[in-house]
Amino acid sequence: MHILVVEDEVRLARHISRALINAGHEAVVLHDGESALTATSRSRFDLIILDVMLPGIDGFEVLRRLRKAHVDSRVIILTARGEVTDRVAGLSFGADDYLAKPFAMQELVARVIALGRRYAEKAPIKLELSDLVLDLTNNELHRGTRKIELSVRELTLLRVLMREPGRVFTRTELCEKVWEREHEYDMKLVEVFISRLRRKIDSPPLIHTVRHLGYTMREEP
Ligand code: CA
Repeated sequence: MHILVVEDEVRLARHISRALINAGHEAVVLHDGESALTATSRSRFDLIILDVMLPGIDGFEVLRRLRKAHVDSRVIILTARGEVTDRVAGLSFGADDYLAKPFAMQELVARVIALGRRYAEKAPIKLELSDLVLDLTNNELHRGTRKIELSVRELTLLRVLMREPGRVFTRTELCEKVWEREHEYDMKLVEVFISRLRRKIDSPPLIHTVRHLGYTMREEP
């Protein structure tokens, strides 16, 4: 799933995003409500993990504005321990679930999976580009009638690219989205994975190198 994490405690936010990425999701991390509202107006997230206590606009207000703007992403709010009123308020503002701090990462990941399942039952989602079809409910990938097996990271990379066909992603951006690292060394990793993807899925080519910029997926006319 494409998940937005809104949490001002930087270390906790990083732990959460790492756990999500390791569980095969894509995670975008933001540290305040304003930027969360901007991000959700620009792209669609399957799930938002939203801390209540944020600087500036708090989590409840973010949630209220999201629902007012008809953003239908599922939302898990992170509340302070034992604050029953917080939970009630969160659910009444349209949260799908809540988790009291402190929580175990496994617990969070389990909730994410549960929400994903509930959502998948309602709306099976596929990403399609030409004859390449990725079923997001079970991660099955087909090119035409051929079934293709990908590793978890390969799948994540492919999902990132397929979600926004035609958009050029820099290597740095892909690194952050798929591996959450920013070092020089990892740029090579992106190239390695791109060439693996190409070998597995890319005939005729859908993954294109944009010189000096990065990569994009699109169907050539
Ligand atoms: Ca906080």
